Amino acid sequence: MIKHSVHVKPEQQGLWFIVNRGRLWLNGQQQLPQGPYASLSLSAAPEQICQLGELEGVPAYLLINNDQIADEHHWVSARAILPAGERLFELAARAVQVALFLQTHRFCGQCGSAMSLVNWELATLCHKCGHRCYPRIAPCVLVGIAHQGKILLARSSRHKAGFFSILAGFVESAETLEQAAVREVKEEVGIDICNLRYVGSQPWPFPHSLMAGFIADYAGGAIRCQPHEIEEAAWFSVTELPEVPPLETLSGQIIARLAQMTVE
Ligand SMILES: [Zn+2]
Repeated sequence: MIKHSVHVKPEQQGLWFIVNRGRLWLNGQQQLPQGPYASLSLSAAPEQICQLGELEGVPAYLLINNDQIADEHHWVSARAILPAGERLFELAARAVQVALFLQTHRFCGQCGSAMSLVNWELATLCHKCGHRCYPRIAPCVLVGIAHQGKILLARSSRHKAGFFSILAGFVESAETLEQAAVREVKEEVGIDICNLRYVGSQPWPFPHSLMAGFIADYAGGAIRCQPHEIEEAAWFSVTELPEVPPLETLSGQIIARLAQMTVE
């Protein structure tokens, strides 16, 4: 459970996720700082400190820092933590998402009054109109499709030339994950799918997504790319894959699984 407004003593040992405008602070060894609170060179007000969980018995804390950044090279995206392992990345994802929630829910979206933190859960409350907010989490589906020994990959207009991935899209209001998967594939590349199987999920803090991964079978249709969204899409032989996301990402894991299934 995430605890906000935590009072930490100077001697408190911890793994410290210091977040400033969505970026994390790394020390001179390019690592997250660990040790007593007093050893940190940056500080935060008590209401800007949250306990996020723990890693191997060491409590993990979020400190929200609002200083003007001078040491630019110390601040990185949570993406830089991805190679450091799943558990550390999850805590980093949690840190930047909680910081974003606290920074963007200071005022009520309904009446404009100042919001206060609820003291027993991570939520903000407007005492004037009763509006209550929780951290936003945006579900997003990933869909891997293999057919006749080939994998369907697409390049989004946001990605550089030569970099391909499986199809992805946000779940719309009042839509199931399965409906979103079928709709996104149809919209983005004009392909019909069937036999959806759930693979797994991954928090993706850019800024607050939760990826839900599926694999599916091809059911019909020819590739037709959605303008402005998909630059190109094609069926790739598993022996001739282009550059794809790394194995630390759920997309990379799904592509590897499809490649394995295709070889078998
Ligand atoms: Zn209000």
